[in-house]
Amino acid sequence: SSKVDRDRTLPEKKTKELDGYVGFANLPNQVYRKAVKKGFDFTLMVVGESGLGKSTLINSMFLADIYSADYPGPSQRIKKTVQVETSRTLLKENTVNLTLTIVDTPGFGDAVDNSNCWQPIIDYIQSRYEEFLNAESRVNRKTQALDTRVHCCLYFIAPSGHGLKPLDVEFMQRLQDKVNIIPVIAKADTMTPEECAHFKKQILNELAQHKIKIYEFPDTEEDTEGGKLNGKKLKDRVPMAIVGSNTVVEVDGKKIRGRKYPWGVAEVENLEHCDFIALRDMLIRTHLQDLKDVTNNVHYENYRCRKLAGLGQDPKQRASNKNPLAQMEEEKREHDIKMKKMETEMEQVFEMKVKEKKQKLLDSEADLQRRHEQMRKTLEVQIKELEDKRKALEAEKLAWEQSNGVSLEELRRRSLERDSV
Ligand code: GDP
Repeated sequence: SSKVDRDRTLPEKKTKELDGYVGFANLPNQVYRKAVKKGFDFTLMVVGESGLGKSTLINSMFLADIYSADYPGPSQRIKKTVQVETSRTLLKENTVNLTLTIVDTPGFGDAVDNSNCWQPIIDYIQSRYEEFLNAESRVNRKTQALDTRVHCCLYFIAPSGHGLKPLDVEFMQRLQDKVNIIPVIAKADTMTPEECAHFKKQILNELAQHKIKIYEFPDTEEDTEGGKLNGKKLKDRVPMAIVGSNTVVEVDGKKIRGRKYPWGVAEVENLEHCDFIALRDMLIRTHLQDLKDVTNNVHYENYRCRKLAGLGQDPKQRASNKNPLAQMEEEKREHDIKMKKMETEMEQVFEMKVKEKKQKLLDSEADLQRRHEQMRKTLEVQIKELEDKRKALEAEKLAWEQSNGVSLEELRRRSLERDSV
């Protein structure tokens, strides 16, 4: 019956040709003008150990010194706890304004014990959702509240050639349902093309194995035209292997961004050398809006549902609604997981201690060796000196004997005889 109701309220559509120009063909232009006037905003988070080239990539990507403006140099950013820092820059291209917010997470993965180093990042993402939710639920909603939610998280994987580290897996597992994750392989110029291809496969396998969902670039019409290189879609290059550089080098008289090596130049903006262009194109030119849409429709919506479902019910009560057996089971599982984790951590610490001890032993052995060597050399020098002195004395004695015409032994013998007499 609902279908009948709907049919009654919605008269059947008929296509009509207009006899003249009315003007609503101009609607897209109205939207366009409004959007341009309002400007765009985008928040990009970068996560990865320090030194993987995060700042270099961001600067290369937006062709601006985004990092140097608000940031102290990398050396001053070495801290042992994970921080979340934001910098906002207004970028202009032709007439379009983009407010770009970069969220950096210095200290991630830099400590010896990296457990929970994702927590400040999760807290940051969720507090931005919370802010947005609060702004939305206010009686007086501001029409143009700035959207500070994190639309994309670039996760930097170290170019080890050995797949993902446990921390990489843990981080992505915990954040996959909170933010769009795009994993990138940092400093791809440190690998040969074959190694890089193999590394990519390995990473994709591991992501599948751990059921990690990263942001999936949807197909666009452009994939079938400009987006292809050698019949390969840009999105098939995920996880993208990146080379970043803030210096311009000259190749065949042309000035390009690249890294110069004795054996050649790794060109940043060359799809044969790395996936930088693919990443930049997909992130900014073709999929920026989709990243924002997915953030709003999937991740933020998840957060909102969880939050609203949890409202009005106190957490203890919710827990007690569960079947007690199932709860015990769950607690036991959690406990087991915790124990397992502690065990591996202890093993790691132990291993490290052993390593340190070994290194110390090696060091002191080398030190002893060095000192022994030094001692030996001094002794040798002393022996040599004594030898020289002996020779000098010998010569002196000989000279004296010759000039006096009598040997010392003779003299000694005579004096003994005299004494006995
Ligand atoms: P961050 O700590 O992750 O922000 O790393 P930086 O951007 O400060 O880069 C650390 C160092 O790595 C600098 O000396 C960069 O010149 C260098 N670097 C950055 N990108 C690349 C890259 O793609 N390949 C190589 N080989 N080095 C890079």
